[in-house]
Amino acid sequence: MGTPSEHADLAERVEELLAADGPLPIVSAGDPVLRRPAEPFDGQLAPALLARFVEALRVTMRAAPGVGLAAPQVGVGLRIAVIEDPALVPDEVRVARGRVPQPFRVLVDPSYEPVGPARAAFFEGCLSVPGWQAVVARHAEVRLRAWDEQGRVVDEVFSGWPARIVQHETDHLDGTLYLDRAELRSLASNRAVAEFWGQPTVERAAGALGFGLPGPAV
Ligand code: ZN
Repeated sequence: MGTPSEHADLAERVEELLAADGPLPIVSAGDPVLRRPAEPFDGQLAPALLARFVEALRVTMRAAPGVGLAAPQVGVGLRIAVIEDPALVPDEVRVARGRVPQPFRVLVDPSYEPVGPARAAFFEGCLSVPGWQAVVARHAEVRLRAWDEQGRVVDEVFSGWPARIVQHETDHLDGTLYLDRAELRSLASNRAVAEFWGQPTVERAAGALGFGLPGPAV
C-alpha cells in the first residue's frame, strides 16, 4: 500500500518524532488520525527505524502509564500497537476481571475474531480520552492474528483482561475508539470511578447509572 514517496513521508514523520528523547506526545480524541483506518505495515519503516519506533511506543506506554498503545495515538497511521500489563491489582479484581499479567508484545497488522458468544463488561479508559472511563461489553475471548516485530506469525487466543487490551488496541487501528462501543450512560470521570465504582464488577454501577449489561456471561 502507498507509493514510495508516501512511504518516505511516513518514515520521515517517524524520524522527526524520534528526534526528541523520551515519551512521545499522545494525540487526543478529535484528531483525525484516530478516526482513519491505519495503513497495513508494508516495510514503510526500515527494520532499524521500526525497532526504534517500537521502543518509543513502549517508553510512551509505560510513562503514561497505560497497558497498550497504538501507533495512531502518536500520530502515525500504521497498523502497529504495543501491549503490556503488569496487572498490579488486588486479588479480587484480578479474579473478577481476569486481569492476569501480560508481557510486552508488539502487534503488527493485528486482527481479531470472537471465540464463543461470551462477553464481559468492565470500565475501561484510553490514553487518547484522558480523564474518563466507560463500561464496554467486549468479547470475553478472541483469536488474535498478527505479526510480531520480527515478522513472525502470531495466532493466539486471548481471554480475560488481555483480550480486552488486544481488542481496544486493534480497534484503534481501524479508527474506532472505545467510546464507540461503550455504554454511554456509564461514562464517568476518573474521579467518579475512584469515588464510586472501585468494585471488581460493574453491577452496582449499572443499577445506579442506568445502563444495560450483557447476559449471564458477565
Ligand atoms: Zn486507547
